[in-house]
Amino acid sequence: MSEFDVKIGVEIHVQLKTKSKMFCSCKVDLKSEPNRNICPICTGQPGTLPTPNEKAVEYAVIVSRALNSKIPDFLYFSRKNYFYPDLPKGYQITQYGISTGYNGSVPVIKDKEVIYFPIERVNLEEETAKSIYVDGKVFLDYNRCGIPLLEIVTPPVFDFPDILISFLKSLRRTLIYLGVSDCNMEEGEFRVDTNISVNLKGATLDSRVEIKNLNSFSAIKESLEYEIRRQKEAILNNAVVTRETRLWDEVKKETRAMRKKEFVEDYRYFPEPDLPPFEVKKEWLTKELPLLPDYYFRELIKKGADSKEAEIIISSPFLADFTLKVLEKFSFQKVKGWILTEILQYVDDLESLRELPFSFTDFILFLENLEKGLIPRHIGQEIIRISMTEKVNISDLIKDKVEIKSASEVDKVVEEVIRENASVVEKIRAGKVSAISFLIGQTMSKLKGKANPKEVKEIIEKKLNIK
Ligand SMILES: [Zn+2]
Repeated sequence: MSEFDVKIGVEIHVQLKTKSKMFCSCKVDLKSEPNRNICPICTGQPGTLPTPNEKAVEYAVIVSRALNSKIPDFLYFSRKNYFYPDLPKGYQITQYGISTGYNGSVPVIKDKEVIYFPIERVNLEEETAKSIYVDGKVFLDYNRCGIPLLEIVTPPVFDFPDILISFLKSLRRTLIYLGVSDCNMEEGEFRVDTNISVNLKGATLDSRVEIKNLNSFSAIKESLEYEIRRQKEAILNNAVVTRETRLWDEVKKETRAMRKKEFVEDYRYFPEPDLPPFEVKKEWLTKELPLLPDYYFRELIKKGADSKEAEIIISSPFLADFTLKVLEKFSFQKVKGWILTEILQYVDDLESLRELPFSFTDFILFLENLEKGLIPRHIGQEIIRISMTEKVNISDLIKDKVEIKSASEVDKVVEEVIRENASVVEKIRAGKVSAISFLIGQTMSKLKGKANPKEVKEIIEKKLNIK
């Protein structure tokens, strides 16, 4: 068996969630009819000039900060020669020579630990039009052309598809927590190009193959596994692995050659003459960042969650925040079943969970009632089921299901029970204290269960002067 070196690097493209496009004021809206949100700038008409979208630059800086990157004091854009119809200018405005962020890292959760993987650079650029292939023809939707796009590049540090997937999931989660993109992979808001080279151990030959536009984790994993196998076989058969760009065929489960890989000199980069260099604003560098997934992960572990439980909870920034707030009042052991099982069984898409039908304070009230014994467990489960399926606030259901009698009402009923059970009271006074449970039972039954048995017991004891 020959030994191989596998090196995988990735380029991730992320559509930023801004209101308008990167260099014009066209609306960002991919749900409109094709070619509605376009103007002379984003369709590359002669004589037009670009104006940078400040929000997009701010987002790029914020992402760079969250990815622990170095950020230069000044930035400028570059022009990249581009020869496909999805960018009608004939070039793409991107960053080259200088990036918004350098030498960053992404924390990746592995078991109970957090390990860091490097990010080479974070660039801000413009998106291309969407190509739609029908019956051998290509249709172009320029609504997408010019949307702000982040390009996040890693060095070839991954040797195994699984660890790369964990890295990508962490990165994607971080971007979602930052609120800069929804990172919907099916919609192409977070897509991945992988580059992979397989060599015999010790060989230095670089036969880098790029697989473009992967938009699901399964496609990334399967295409890499396929490509590793293909390149290993080629090497063992003394065939040449061509440096090229390949496409993943989701149906045939194979990669196929798309075009020879361009070399950097093909792009003929030069500083964008229509856009002067600009300063990175202080406020972008000092603005407080939202709490990030690794913070929530560590806190949840501290509070007693295991890493699997913590990973489920942090899949939704909303749920992570909600849970940590609840954990200020209750232990993880007490709430984990309610959150992870009872609530989440009614949530189909945890990642896009943004709210529950009840507030955090309502949920605390619910837990307090459970703890006091006012809500039996099975009623609690029923309350959560109705709340989650019918979107009813939990506190309305508590009132409805558990109408708790007031202290004075309980007091009255206890008096009654004591009067009606003189012989039992005698026994208790004579020392048979256990008989008190009979009186509690009588009281609870008269109240139809709508009282806290612990409190009933205390009231009886007080009235009988025991304890
Ligand atoms: Zn436009």
